[in-house]
Parts: sequence; structure tokens; C-alpha cells
Amino acid sequence: MTKRKTIIAGNWKMFKTRKEATELASAVAAGCKGEKDLPEVVLIPPFTSIESALNAIKDSPVSVGAQNMDWRDNGAFTGEVSPVMLTELGVKYVLIGHSERRQFFGETNQTVNQRLKAALAHKLIPIVCVGETLDERESGLTDSVVRRQVGAALAEIPPEALEIIVVAYEPVWAIGTGKVCEADEANRVLGQIRATIADLYKEGGNSGLADQVPLLYGGSVKPSNIEEQMAKPEIDGALVGGASLKAEEFLPLIKAGQKRVQGTAKDSLSKV
Ligand code: PEP
Repeated sequence: MTKRKTIIAGNWKMFKTRKEATELASAVAAGCKGEKDLPEVVLIPPFTSIESALNAIKDSPVSVGAQNMDWRDNGAFTGEVSPVMLTELGVKYVLIGHSERRQFFGETNQTVNQRLKAALAHKLIPIVCVGETLDERESGLTDSVVRRQVGAALAEIPPEALEIIVVAYEPVWAIGTGKVCEADEANRVLGQIRATIADLYKEGGNSGLADQVPLLYGGSVKPSNIEEQMAKPEIDGALVGGASLKAEEFLPLIKAGQKRVQGTAKDSLSKV
């Protein structure tokens, strides 16, 4: 099996002023200092705090991402931020299609696809977010919703891009609710996502590239539940909201990612 990157990403949402971002990013960078076998650690502040976070993580292995971006390079689009602006700052990652963007800001599968194309064109690493609502889960639609979101996001995306793209499965009902998706179920849905990607690229013989795509779980991840998630074969990391806002909660998540990199993550259930 291809060895995939392990990623621990913290989505700060609309939290952290510049001063607070400097403090948090500095604490995360200090916690990573001198550590071996770290996962890829990504801090995702609001736009106004990106530069502060970037300054604070200089000379550390930590990276910075953005929470969203427009797909156009510039233009009369009041309130938007472009990929050109993000790359100029030194941003490495960008979240695309987070459920809060889909729920509150009109993000659609089509605009997710446009943003994904733009991210790739500008050499930003896209973390594409997918996931079902509670209603959809309760109606037995989880797999079809997630398959549709992945298919639409990847429309017209060339196979070689699968070496760059990251996908996060974030069930909407688990985000910020304290209700974590059981590790076995998250692993199952991520397996479906990988199978969907393989299927989309089978013409042309590129199904195997699906094995290279890091798949993350997101939704109420915290120090007390991450170990079980990290032990699952399809879960290559975590996209974390609430627990990324305090260094003392985020650093243990990085530690859990490190154990996965070292191959020592243990599935507590399999030990019974
Ligand atoms: C998120 O914002 O992507 C997220 C998963 O939030 P939380 O960890 O707070 O559920």
C-alpha cells in the first residue's frame, strides 16, 4: 500500500485575532520543535490572522492554510480573497467546501469544483470537505450524498492532481456538536470515498491513484477520541475545529498523528 501523508489540521473558523493567532501558532510551533516523525501540521486561521500565524511558525515544520478562497484571480468581487493573494502570503493549504460555507454562504458542489480547479492551478493544497447532514444520515443517504459531493468536486480534475488533493469527511451533525462519528463508521465512509475516487479514474487506468489521496475525518475530534480514529486504515488524519483553538488540546492531537506516522497507533477495540 502507498504510504500516505498523515495530516492534523486545525480550522480556527472565525476565532483568533492577530495577537491570539500569534500566541497559538507560536505555542504549536514550540510544541513541534525538535519532534521527529511529525504529521503534517496545518493551522487554518481567518484571513486577517494568516500573516501573524505565518510569522509565528517560521522555521518550524508547521504549515498555514486558508478557510476558503474565490476561484478567480482578481475582479469586482467585493469581500472575496483570491488564490493569488493567498499564495503571495505563503499559504500552503486551502479548505474547500467546508459545510459551514455550504450551509451559510451558498457554496455548492459546482463552486467547490471551481475552487478546486483554482487551488490546483495556483499550487495550493486543497482540503475538500464533504459530509452528510443529520437528515440525510437518518434517511440512509450518507453514501450517496458523499459520493455525489466527491464526484462533483472532482469533475474534470486530471488524474495527476490526485497526488495533491486531500479529502476530509466531516458529517455535518458531528461538527461542533460533541457527537463524534464512530471510528468504524468514519473509516467505512472514507473507504467509500476512496472507492468513489478509484471508480471516477478507472477509465485511463488511474484507479490506483486513489490510494495516494490522504483522507481525513473531522467532527468533534478531541484528545479523548482521536487515538481510535488514527488507528483506522482509511483515516489519514483529522480536520479539527474546537479542539484546535487551544495548544493544550491541539498538541495531543499532533502526538496522535505522530503515533500514526510511527506506525504505533493502536486500535483500542482490536486489543480487547
Ligand atoms: C471543523 O470545523 O471542521 C470541525 C470539524 O469542527 P469541530 O472539530 O469543532 O467539530
